[in-house]
Amino acid sequence: MPENDCLFCKIASGEIPSTQVFSNERIVAFKDIHPKAPTHLLVVPRKHIASLYDATEEDRDLLGEMLLVASQLAKESPNGENGGRFGFNCGPWGGQEVGHLHLHVMAGKKL
Ligand code: AMP
Ligand code: ZN
Repeated sequence: MPENDCLFCKIASGEIPSTQVFSNERIVAFKDIHPKAPTHLLVVPRKHIASLYDATEEDRDLLGEMLLVASQLAKESPNGENGGRFGFNCGPWGGQEVGHLHLHVMAGKKL
C-alpha cells in the first residue's frame, strides 16, 4: 500500500527519519520540520491517502482516530490546555505540498 516516492509513506515506514511523537498500527505523528508554532505536529495515516478529497467512507474510522490523536497530543503539549489549531490543507488551492494526507496540529502560543 505504500506509494513509491511518497515522503510521508517513507516517514511512516521509518525509511526517512522524523522526530516521532506518536505511533500505532494505523497512525504516526511527528514534528513538522518547519514549525509555525511552538508545537507543530503532523498526524499522518500509515495508509497512503493522497488528500482529504481522496478519503472515502472506508476511511471514516481512520479520520476520526486522527482527530482524537491530534486532540490528545495538543492537550499534552506545553501550554496545550489553552487550545490549538487543527488543519488539513487540501489540493493546490488549499496549499497542500505533500501528497499524503496529514493533519497539522499547532499549539503552544496564541494563534
Ligand atoms: P502541506 O503544505 O499541508 O502539504 O504541509 C506539509 C508540511 O510538511 C509542511 O509544514 C512542511 O514543513 C512539512 N514537512 C516537509 N518535509 C518534512 C519532513 N521531512 N519532516 C517533517 N515535516 C516535513
Ligand atoms: Zn504516501
